[in-house]
Amino acid sequence: MDEFNLYKILSIAVFAFAIVVYFSLLLIPAPYGRHLRRGWGHTVKARFGWFIMEFPAFFIIILFFFLGNRQTNPVALIFLIMWAAHYFQRTFIFPFLMKGGDKKFPIVLIVFALCFNIINSYINGRYLFYYSPVYPASWFYDPRFLTGAIFFITGMIINLQSDHILRSLRNSCENSYKIPKRGLFKYITCPNYFGEILEWTGWAIATWSIPGLAFAVFTFANLAPRAFTNHHWYLKNFSDYPRDRKALIPFIK
Ligand code: NDP
Repeated sequence: MDEFNLYKILSIAVFAFAIVVYFSLLLIPAPYGRHLRRGWGHTVKARFGWFIMEFPAFFIIILFFFLGNRQTNPVALIFLIMWAAHYFQRTFIFPFLMKGGDKKFPIVLIVFALCFNIINSYINGRYLFYYSPVYPASWFYDPRFLTGAIFFITGMIINLQSDHILRSLRNSCENSYKIPKRGLFKYITCPNYFGEILEWTGWAIATWSIPGLAFAVFTFANLAPRAFTNHHWYLKNFSDYPRDRKALIPFIK
């Protein structure tokens, strides 16, 4: 099989995987964080797990930038910076700021996430820096790039702010849960997931690419069921949880 066929199969596989993941997670919440439970095999510390899961996404995109043929293309460079900025934060900052990062995290989840991150970074990096038609500099003025970039940056700010608010609820060695009340938490239970979904939707629009769309669809499939599960968890565990708060999308769901 030549590489282009492999790239196409992997891109389609991400869409197929997203469907499986969405329906599986509606039935079985991923066993980490507040949904950690016995029966999922060996575990490592969550902080270490996050670092191991996420670092391939940071390095693989850089690798394929240099293996590609777009090193002098300004649009390709901006896409590299957008992706690398997100994954630099997620790999090298987020795990080390976590409160309760010594909690357990199942190795089986790390393996799943590793496989996904490797495939996803490969299809996005290979497309943007090798297979795609060359993006002209005028792409910077295209409504698709402008809309996508605004979504991406807004989503990233919401995601970072919301994760920061969650961290501020705990002392450094605390593991308990409290009701978050600041920022977009006034409207939804999982603004960090909302921000993440907005980010990768923006990525799909800005790159106007099939791998970008696959990643956005997968992110929704992965995070929307968990947002619904988390929302029910809060309602069950906190009698004073705000009843008008939605799970994921302000004023809607
Ligand atoms: P959560 O919101 O479940 O938890 C984030 C951190 O905040 C954890 O350390 C958690 O602790 C802590 N926390 C959560 N709720 C409370 C609370 N009520 N009181 C005190 N502390 C709390 O997010 P995830 O761990 O699922 O995800 C982390 C980041 O990774 C997010 O930004 C998310 O968007 C992103 N992500 C992206 C995915 C993708 O498909 N692109 C997939 C999964 C995550 P604890 O671990 O003890 O629960």
